[in-house]
Amino acid sequence: MSQYLQNPITKKWIVFAPQRSKRPDVARGMEPVCPFCNGHENLTPPEVFRIGKGEPNKEGWDVRVIPNLYPITKIHELIIHSPDHRKNLMDLPPKQVRMIFEAYRARFLFHKAKGQVFLFHNHGKMGAESLPHPHTQLCVIPFEIPLEAGRLGDPNNLAFETGKFMVFCPRTSEWPFETWIAPKRRGFQFDEIDEAELTDFSSLVPQVLKKLGSKLDGEFAFNFFIYPGGDWYWRLIPRTVNRGGFELGTGIMVNTLDPKETIKLLTK
Ligand SMILES: [Zn+2]
Repeated sequence: MSQYLQNPITKKWIVFAPQRSKRPDVARGMEPVCPFCNGHENLTPPEVFRIGKGEPNKEGWDVRVIPNLYPITKIHELIIHSPDHRKNLMDLPPKQVRMIFEAYRARFLFHKAKGQVFLFHNHGKMGAESLPHPHTQLCVIPFEIPLEAGRLGDPNNLAFETGKFMVFCPRTSEWPFETWIAPKRRGFQFDEIDEAELTDFSSLVPQVLKKLGSKLDGEFAFNFFIYPGGDWYWRLIPRTVNRGGFELGTGIMVNTLDPKETIKLLTK
């Protein structure tokens, strides 16, 4: 099982999770059959939630949630985006994207009393994706462990807005092409997202991913996460660059792209 360890000098935490090393590595051909595909429900641990038709652990689902076999934290779930092995958020119909975010909301609400509910998605090799079938991960982290993700503050460098949301690229972006989405209705946790916001958010996220993906060369690898505290936001980090010794040693990120350039891509 995982163990949280704190560096007594820096006070920073690590989580020691040796079970993670047993994960199948698709790149090395250790996962010939995809356990997340329709009809392979018997290859995963029993599901904890589904949206769609069918009996539990049988076909017919639209979005399926299962415990992770190789957890980082004590509670670690996988939200499988759809039965489709290839289509991700930018390729799926808006109705399906909405169901994925509905699943986020339901599982966030289910776990929020137990700790900080951290929802994140890895895409592409540079984004540390393990299984290629698109899925989001949910980890519950004890309240006493401080997270790197900071509070929202006042959004600056606005790219555009919709009825419910602001899309912006902060001046203090740490990564090229970094993009944030925050609701105009401030001060709420993600499980409090309302129906109209859910609909708006479900069209915004694919729109942002499509815009950036079409402008970047080669594989569009990225990570995103949802801030687990009050005043939620969504932060997208395209993984176009690796990190070097300067960043690792100093903790100071070197951003080489003016966020204004990202705004141009998003608004073209
Ligand atoms: Zn699959």
